[in-house]
Amino acid sequence: MDNSKDIPKPELMHKIEGCTDEVNGAVIIPGEDGVISISSDRSVRVWLLRDSGQYWPSICHYYTDTAPTSLSYCHERRLLFIGLDSGAVDEWEVARDYNSITSVRKYHAHLSRVSDTSFSPASNWILSSGRDKYFYFHCTVTGKRLGGYLCNAWCTGLAYDEEAQYVFVGDYSGAITVCKLEQSGVKFINTLKGHSGSIQCLAWDGTRNWLYSASYDASVFVWDIGGRRGTVYELHGHRSKVTSLVYSPAHSRLVSAGEDRRLVCWDMRVTRQETPDWAQSDFCQLCNRPFFWNVKAMYEQKTVGLRQHHCRRCGKAVCDYCSSKRSILTDKGHEYPVRVCEECHISIKEGEKKPLANFFDTRNVVKHLHFDASRCLLASVGQDNVIKLWQMREVLEGQRMTGP
Ligand SMILES: [Zn+2]
Ligand SMILES: [Zn+2]
Repeated sequence: MDNSKDIPKPELMHKIEGCTDEVNGAVIIPGEDGVISISSDRSVRVWLLRDSGQYWPSICHYYTDTAPTSLSYCHERRLLFIGLDSGAVDEWEVARDYNSITSVRKYHAHLSRVSDTSFSPASNWILSSGRDKYFYFHCTVTGKRLGGYLCNAWCTGLAYDEEAQYVFVGDYSGAITVCKLEQSGVKFINTLKGHSGSIQCLAWDGTRNWLYSASYDASVFVWDIGGRRGTVYELHGHRSKVTSLVYSPAHSRLVSAGEDRRLVCWDMRVTRQETPDWAQSDFCQLCNRPFFWNVKAMYEQKTVGLRQHHCRRCGKAVCDYCSSKRSILTDKGHEYPVRVCEECHISIKEGEKKPLANFFDTRNVVKHLHFDASRCLLASVGQDNVIKLWQMREVLEGQRMTGP
């Protein structure tokens, strides 16, 4: 009997239903049985757990002419920042009894949809990214714009390193722009390139100075920002677009979700290997036969050209015959079998194939995740407009990894 799936699963605690259109985000209120949600039905709702065992709204605020598209909440200051489809960012104060929200300020930040917001309580800055390709940050004391940066494509999400005051802005082209924020403005640092699809979500791990990026190219990248060597690890476990990720520093676990209806819990305590660079060659580096664009060699060898492939372990350019084998390579982030060359196939060690992630079925496409670290609670927003609350403690504390 195969008991490889005998691992703790996320425990569904509550379902929150009632939004009549797409839910664009949800955050768990720390220390409370409460959730704040925003929806394309133009609502901002604060949900509280009632004696009936159900979540019911204590606040339901409707915008009249635009829809909320992103949110961030600072519980210490009870400040709620709502990015809007119109491009503005609204600041609200949430009452202690959760029965009302009071408008504090409106920031005329962007010219079109706000994709993400992040509040820095230490600096009193509200950071925002938008479809107008701009990143902006405003002072929440004066309301003044402090700086902005024009990216090359629609900005899709951001992450902030509060300590070093670096902002990471993901965009539709798959690039991540890194800027340093100062009271005097934005200083461009560099651009992180590697993803071949739109960035959907970024997460910052301040304990190791690692940036996690989730992309529509079905991969998650781990950027070692602190290490200065520019190391990038790739995590391949999703079969489709990755939509969201959260990181638990206490457990060194990364949780990602995607359109493949999978929740993947990655063990980040282990050191993975960087993906090898792909070799450039006009010939198969194992059997020496020419690739199809190498017309001269094809003529001289009186042979047809072959398609070029790359071994995921050594990076050699090889033909299909010389790379017919598949293997998982978990130490390079491949939880599913990938192409390896004949040479590598016979020399792969067991340690390179030890699963380093657990996989769970979410039944629905998950679009957003939010994590409450103190209680190990995970909120997931599904394509069915239902918000689900999951207890993740056992999943995150579990030691055994079984792969997909
Ligand atoms: Zn070959
Ligand atoms: Zn190889």
